[in-house]
Amino acid sequence: METNQLVETALTVEPNQNETQSPHGHASTPTEWIEFRDSDIHGRGGFARKPIPTGTQVIEYVGRQVTKAESEILCSENNEYIFDLNEERDLDGKVDWNPARLINHSCNPNCYAEQDGDRIFIFAQRKIKPGAELSFNYGFSLKGYQDFPCLCGDKYCVGFMVAEEFHPLVREENDLPKPPRR
Ligand SMILES: [Zn+2]
Repeated sequence: METNQLVETALTVEPNQNETQSPHGHASTPTEWIEFRDSDIHGRGGFARKPIPTGTQVIEYVGRQVTKAESEILCSENNEYIFDLNEERDLDGKVDWNPARLINHSCNPNCYAEQDGDRIFIFAQRKIKPGAELSFNYGFSLKGYQDFPCLCGDKYCVGFMVAEEFHPLVREENDLPKPPRR
């Protein structure tokens, strides 16, 4: 956690910078919809530059393809930016040319991540107002979930960054109230 925060703080993205280029010159990620600045949730976050309609593809989540073996090591080091791509490879989004990694996790997110082949995109799950912080559920499993506290600030935050399917269980284990249906 602390290491990630250091990396994020050390990174400088100019406010008018609309593209981030990978070192290989590909996988640029236009940020027409999103800007990055300090977040109340954690470190830096992504915020809507303008009104974002439901279903908008906000940004691509880029990264380094890694083998499952490498991915396992990274996960054991609490790397929070690993996506499962296929049976052989994962995507490590913890690279400075992936600004989408700064988008925070939330228990009640306004975006979601979707895989298209070997690529991952972040979409708006609902209409988002300009200036609102963007978030998606990182989809973590229950394994060691207590190492990943959630600070999303939602009224019905479950306190840990787990996939929505595990919310009922984590609520039960931690004596949290059930939210109304949304
Ligand atoms: Zn939360």
